[in-house]
Amino acid sequence: MAIILDEELRAVRLDRNFYLGEFLDSRTAAAHNIDMTPSADVMVRLVTLTRVILQPLRNLANEQYRQDGEPEYVMALTSGYRPSDLNARVGGTVGSYHTVGLAADFTIPGLTLQQVVDLCRKIPMIDKCIIEFDSWIHVQHPKFGREPRHQFFALP
Ligand SMILES: [Zn+2]
Repeated sequence: MAIILDEELRAVRLDRNFYLGEFLDSRTAAAHNIDMTPSADVMVRLVTLTRVILQPLRNLANEQYRQDGEPEYVMALTSGYRPSDLNARVGGTVGSYHTVGLAADFTIPGLTLQQVVDLCRKIPMIDKCIIEFDSWIHVQHPKFGREPRHQFFALP
């Protein structure tokens, strides 16, 4: 029997353009009946990730690239929170920041990955920004109490 997430939980707004549900959607989790309900700690980290990194990035994309009259650029999240069993199933590294709610994978349709990386360089709290498999960007916020390492690189 599939675990259905509470709709009210999915609709929790983390910031202007981000809803909790986007961070919890996973076809693999659905296929394997993995419970995506976040703990309170994970919720706090997802809010922080969103307010300190993702929403500012989205704002920057629109400030820098959007022309008058054109629709806003949006961020397409491909992976957000991953409980450990989901992380293992999708081949995530052990201890991945996704498992604690401090990382997200995304693209900004209409912008190149390099353009997105250039925007990421303007966000002081990015711990790591990784172009993964030439397909999407991984960003992570430092664990609480740690300084951001501000590392930028690509995984082939
Ligand atoms: Zn990632």
